[in-house]
Amino acid sequence: MSKYAIAIHGGAGTILQSTMTAEKEIAYKTALQDAIEAGEAVLKKGGSSLDAVEFAIVSLENNPLFNAGKGAVFTHNGKNEMDASIMYGKDLTAGAVAGVTNIKNPISLSRAVMEKSDHVLLTGAGAIDFAKKINAEFADDDYFFVQMRYEQLQKAKESDSMILDHTEDKFENGEKKFGTVGCVALDIHGNIAAGTSTGGMTNKKFGRVGDSPVIGAGTYANNNTCAISCTGHGEFFLRSVVAYDISCLMEYKGLTLKQACDFVVMDKLVKIGGEGGLIALDAKGNIELPFNSEGMYRAKKSSDSELYIGIYK
Ligand code: ASP
Repeated sequence: MSKYAIAIHGGAGTILQSTMTAEKEIAYKTALQDAIEAGEAVLKKGGSSLDAVEFAIVSLENNPLFNAGKGAVFTHNGKNEMDASIMYGKDLTAGAVAGVTNIKNPISLSRAVMEKSDHVLLTGAGAIDFAKKINAEFADDDYFFVQMRYEQLQKAKESDSMILDHTEDKFENGEKKFGTVGCVALDIHGNIAAGTSTGGMTNKKFGRVGDSPVIGAGTYANNNTCAISCTGHGEFFLRSVVAYDISCLMEYKGLTLKQACDFVVMDKLVKIGGEGGLIALDAKGNIELPFNSEGMYRAKKSSDSELYIGIYK
């Protein structure tokens, strides 16, 4: 059997062991394990990397611990506006949604944009019309109401700032840490895929959209180079076109996955103040999980390596 590999993230930021409780740590690790196993089950059966990415992300979206789907953070107006994207490295097809409300699984809607429309990125009301047309699953406002998220919004409003989900020092309580989610996978047929899903940043206004639904910034996949899913302060990831930059460094400069990831995350992003990280893999099954923040919820597994779960630096 050819090799398969999968990696996931649950967001990066100021995640400190000193402010984490034992129960919370177990809850995060269990959630990461469940999600990666959902994706791995697909790969083990010979399924596609695209299915693995979608299934793993749906698992994370359905868990209120993460800033995506059910646990999406609140906007300034008290709404949950979600962004997501997915890309298939085999043929460079991609789909994405931005600023969608009441969609249970934005990653699945992104996939539908990719497979059932002539477009790549749908936004707001138009994306909702499309979701109705394809019978996507909706959920009411109550489903998305998570008390901790609401408290995060009140804190952010007090300081009139837009807050990255894991920017711990802005909160008194170390338990208020959540994150964007993502997955990259390689299937036994040699095809790679990437996906990212988020509620964005707490207290965001004016229809703000980050890097997560932007192909080339927060998500990218190309069988010839790499599959990438980012997490961090989206404005910096957009300006740095992070995911495509890594692919380009591999394609045009011949860098390895590790060299390209290290240069972009630990050097280029750091120089402009871009806090965050990403998960990456290539068609050989190499996996990299670089981040320049205090921590990043992350996990990886392949057909020839054990499950690894990490949270802190
Ligand atoms: N990158 C996301 C955004 O800026 C946030 C995150 O990764 O937590 O919308």
